[in-house]
Amino acid sequence: MGCNRNAAASPYFWKGVPVNKTYETGLPSWEPGAPSYLALQDGHDRQFSYLRLSITDVCNFSCNYCLPDGYQCESKTTPISLSEIKQVVTIFAKKGINKVRITGGEPSVRKDLVEIIRTVKNIPGIKTVAMTTNGYKLGEYIGDWLDAGLNALNVSIDSLDPAVFHMITGHNRLKEIMAGLDKALELGIKTLKVNAVLLKSYNFNEFERFLDWIKDTPISLRFIELMETSDNREYFHANHVSGEDIQKRLEASGWLQRIRSKNAGPAKEYQHPDYQGSIGLIMPYSKDFCTTCNRLRISSLGKLHLCLFGEGGLDLRPFFSEGQEALLNDVVDKGLQTKPETHYLQSNNTGTTRHLAMLGG
Ligand code: SAM
Repeated sequence: MGCNRNAAASPYFWKGVPVNKTYETGLPSWEPGAPSYLALQDGHDRQFSYLRLSITDVCNFSCNYCLPDGYQCESKTTPISLSEIKQVVTIFAKKGINKVRITGGEPSVRKDLVEIIRTVKNIPGIKTVAMTTNGYKLGEYIGDWLDAGLNALNVSIDSLDPAVFHMITGHNRLKEIMAGLDKALELGIKTLKVNAVLLKSYNFNEFERFLDWIKDTPISLRFIELMETSDNREYFHANHVSGEDIQKRLEASGWLQRIRSKNAGPAKEYQHPDYQGSIGLIMPYSKDFCTTCNRLRISSLGKLHLCLFGEGGLDLRPFFSEGQEALLNDVVDKGLQTKPETHYLQSNNTGTTRHLAMLGG
């Protein structure tokens, strides 16, 4: 991609953290002799079992609400390597993470993606490996991803109309991506979701078409409310469709909300007796959205992001070497206590998030 990627190499110390501390645990220790760890819990009584891991900030699409000018080589640093991924996911698994979502940028641009899936899946404690993709390589690689242990896949498809899809993403690939979805279903994937961001001037008029599509298609459609980032302010104000409006339309058409457990995450789930598919509604602007937050994020630069719209992230990379496990564990525990109660998106706070390709949504 023509980026000059020089790894930053400055040493880093977390002031005041004792390296040789003995850790108390709320979790079972599943390796004889392994150190035990504090479970991931923040100061607002939220527990975290789900990690979103961005493996690259590079994206080959140019969605007009995210990267309208395409990927711009913003980061000069090398993305986390396979061994760094293994190290950091192992620590988080010991602290109670059981689900990892691989995301990006576009994760399928990484040549070692299959190896990453396999490695993460084989880490003790990880039960579910999920991935979010634009589907560009879905048809070609879904078999390899499933063989490597992928359990769940989200494919982003913002329009069912090829011309509108092209307009939004910059790629005329809808037909191939839909064929990839069919192949994933044929291969027996257990959990297949489609993400669609509803946009006033582009695809909101396809609302019924999306619903018709899942009448006979057994997927879970996620309607995502457009979020404001510092790069898309004008676009956001022109295209934002309120989650409450979407919710009212669903309920008026007979969709029923399913009760979910407290730790199931912030999506509202809907079912309809006449439809094979289901709907998930992601309403980041709704009042209690953050009270059910169950996820932490690690960027492709190895930074822990406590919130999608927080500040620059806590650099974990200096602790990714042999013998630093205890320190890394402590840095995470201390950092977690600073997780804010909410993202303050309602007050137009976008933190340092210029676009979601930086972190993977
Ligand atoms: N490249 C992958 C993909 O296309 O799914 C993964 C990364 S992408 C950032 C993850 C999800 O974030 C996509 O479903 C995308 O539509 C969504 N997204 C990006 N920017 C968004 C925004 N401003 N508001 C809401 N969703 C957004």
